[in-house]
Amino acid sequence: VYVLCKNLKVDSQGAEALYREARDRGVLFLKFDGKVKIEPLEDGRVKVKAKDVLLGDEVELTCDLVVVEEVSPPPSAEEIGPKLRVGTDSQGFYQDENVHLYPVLSRRKGIFFVGSCRGDLDPVRASMDVSSVAIEVYELLSRGKMSVEIERVKVEPDKCRSCLTCIRFCPHSAIRLTRLEEREVAQIYDPACDGCGLCATVCPAKAIALSRESDDGILAQIEAMEEGRIVVFCCAESAYHAADRAGMLKMAYPSQVRIIPVPCAGRVDTLHILKAFENGATGVLVMGCPEGACRHLEGNIRARERVRYVQNMLEEMGLDGKRVKMVGLGPDMAWKFVQEVSGMMKEVGK
Ligand code: SF4
Ligand code: SF4
Repeated sequence: VYVLCKNLKVDSQGAEALYREARDRGVLFLKFDGKVKIEPLEDGRVKVKAKDVLLGDEVELTCDLVVVEEVSPPPSAEEIGPKLRVGTDSQGFYQDENVHLYPVLSRRKGIFFVGSCRGDLDPVRASMDVSSVAIEVYELLSRGKMSVEIERVKVEPDKCRSCLTCIRFCPHSAIRLTRLEEREVAQIYDPACDGCGLCATVCPAKAIALSRESDDGILAQIEAMEEGRIVVFCCAESAYHAADRAGMLKMAYPSQVRIIPVPCAGRVDTLHILKAFENGATGVLVMGCPEGACRHLEGNIRARERVRYVQNMLEEMGLDGKRVKMVGLGPDMAWKFVQEVSGMMKEVGK
C-alpha cells in the first residue's frame, strides 16, 4: 500500500500512533510534488506517476486500485451561508478564516459549526466539536437569562433615513429595520451587537451613536491634545494590547505619541483623522488587526480605505500623504508598535 501525500499532518488524537502502526505494517508514505498522473492499463490495473520529493525523481507505481481522497465542502454552504449571513472559508466550508473565532463559533452569536460542515474532520474531532458547542450553549442558556449591555449602540430614529447602509456593513448582523409610526428605521438588536462601531462610522446621516466611543468623545480627546503630537488610533482587539505591552516592557518610544483606543480600526472615521491634523497633529497612525484577522471581519479593510482617502486628500492639498498611515499588528507585537510610532516620528515629527 502506498500513500501519496503533500504534507502528512497527524494533529488529531491517536493519529501519530496510527501512522506509525501503518508504517510498521509496511505501508509506504511518499511525499510528492506537483501533479499525480494516473493512467489505466490494459490489464485493468492503474499506473500512477508522481515526483517523489525525497528522491527528487519521478516514481512509477503499478496498482490494483487507486483511492483518491476528495474533500468537498457541504453543497448547502453556498445557499444557506449567505441567508444566515455566516461566512465560508476559501475552500467553501462554513467558517470564516479568522484567528479571533474559535473553530466552532461563527461571526454571529448563537450560530455554531460542528463537524464536517466546517472542514475535513475525523470522528474524534467532530465529537470534540459537539462537546465544545454543548458548553457554549450551556453557557448561554443555563442561567435562564442572558446579560446584555443595552444601548451601547443606539440609533436616533428621527435622523435615520432607512438607507440600509448600516445593515449591509454590520459584521454581526445585529441591525434590522423596524416600523416606527409611518416609516421604517434601523434598530440595533443588543444581544447580537459586538460593539465594534462600524455602523456609526458608515451611517451617512450620523444617526448612530456609541455610548462609550461616541464621535464627541473621540473628538474631545483629540481637541485636548497639544500641537505636534503623533495621534495613534489603537484597535482594542490588537494594537491597544501591543501598546500596553510596550509600556509594561518599558520599551522606549517618543513621548509625543498620544493613543486613542477604539473598539475596532473600522470605527476610525476620516473626520477623526482630519480633526487630528486640524488640531496640530504632525502624524496619524491607525493601528488595527492584520488583514484577514479582524475580529469584526472587514473593519481593518474599511480603515485602510479611509486612510488612503485622507492620504490622497493631503497630497491634493500639497501636503505629505505619509503623515497618515494604516498599520496591521497583533496584540503581542509591542516591538512593531514601537517601530511604527518611532518611524512616524522620524518621518514627520518636529
Ligand atoms: S445607515 Fe444610518 S440612515 Fe442608514 S439605515 Fe442605518 S441608521 Fe438609518
Ligand atoms: S456596533 Fe458593530 S456589531 Fe453592533 S450594530 Fe454596529 S456594526 Fe453591528
